[in-house]
Amino acid sequence: MKVQYCDICKKEVEDPIPTRTFYYIANVDLCEGCKDDLELAMKHTIRGHNPFDTKWYDDLQTKLLKEGVQRGKIAVAKR
Ligand SMILES: [Zn+2]
Repeated sequence: MKVQYCDICKKEVEDPIPTRTFYYIANVDLCEGCKDDLELAMKHTIRGHNPFDTKWYDDLQTKLLKEGVQRGKIAVAKR
């Protein structure tokens, strides 16, 4: 049995299925829950950002992931 650890919440994921139950984004391993948090966090921030650009998007994603690793959780902005 293969086990991988989420870099954010440190949860272990048994028999991870890449892109289904386990994600690898910007050098960070993510479990499903943290991936959902990341998407939510991105969504909240993107809404107020115009025009959209890829570089900004990537930078934001990397920033959220780095903070997530430090805090043990991805910060999702409140509505
Ligand atoms: Zn996680």
